[in-house]
Amino acid sequence: MPAPLNLPLARAALNRNSEARKDAQLLASLIVEGSAVCLFVSGDKVLGNSQGSGLRLIPVSLVTEIATSGMLAYLGQTIADEAGVAEGTAVVLVDLDAAGLAALEAAGHSQDGDWLTLRRSGFGLSARDAGLVAQALALVNWHRAHGFCANCGTASNVSQAGWSRTCLACKREVFPRNDPAIIVAIVDDEDRILLGSQGTWEENRWSILAGFVDAGETLHAAVEREMLEEAGVKVTDIKFIGSQPWPYPFSLMVGFTARARGEQNLQPDGLEIEKLRWFSREQIAAESQQLLLPGKSTISRAMIEHWYGAPLSSKSDAAPGSR
Ligand SMILES: [Zn+2]
Repeated sequence: MPAPLNLPLARAALNRNSEARKDAQLLASLIVEGSAVCLFVSGDKVLGNSQGSGLRLIPVSLVTEIATSGMLAYLGQTIADEAGVAEGTAVVLVDLDAAGLAALEAAGHSQDGDWLTLRRSGFGLSARDAGLVAQALALVNWHRAHGFCANCGTASNVSQAGWSRTCLACKREVFPRNDPAIIVAIVDDEDRILLGSQGTWEENRWSILAGFVDAGETLHAAVEREMLEEAGVKVTDIKFIGSQPWPYPFSLMVGFTARARGEQNLQPDGLEIEKLRWFSREQIAAESQQLLLPGKSTISRAMIEHWYGAPLSSKSDAAPGSR
């Protein structure tokens, strides 16, 4: 039996309740009514509990003024009791500016060490929290990059309870986007996996190959094109194995396995990929303490471990700033 593909950010446990977004008064009434909880975002971090093991979701009644100073979005309703938050509780995202962050600290609700990044902590969070963080960061990153109308250049306002933006002049409405990227675990006839290393990375950091889907291109064609461009490898037997959001800024990573066709000369593109190497399971196991593998929250790490058949430990797991 192959190991299950364990995708840390593909877990979600929330009813997004997207129908409710149409109610223009939804956020205002949730704040007045007071039973919702707030998920705070500051920069690329989310407010965690002091143990770093989960989110700190604060009842809106305790932080009403701070919440209403940030950009708000309705994320949905919880589907089970968890960590003091009852099933059916509405979750409101609050994207704080500097003043809001200072107010939250002054009110004793956060300290420096309480803020989590998804890269570092995603794999350790519960399904509810991992899903909430991926959702929240993708949404705030989209809002931050789309403040002006692409049609007429005028500023736009948040609409649909945080799930669209509407131009103040021409009224054009736009919705959050995902940028699909393919990521591929290529194996050869000996069942070795192909890993690449980028010129800008630290020595001995390796990952599987990935690339963005081009305009007007299928996922399948993107796999074939990117693997040929980055590695000079023609692939066959392309199979989808899983996907997870990667909100940097708002990508969707779509994972595939593929087979290299026969004996092939590896040709790193020299632009993105500097080195390429086939790894056997024995080599990965023997070298894992010297290798810098992708961080535990990434689909790349999950796909390498899926091929290997078990979790791997890597030198990168303890390093600060690990990807
Ligand atoms: Zn406009």
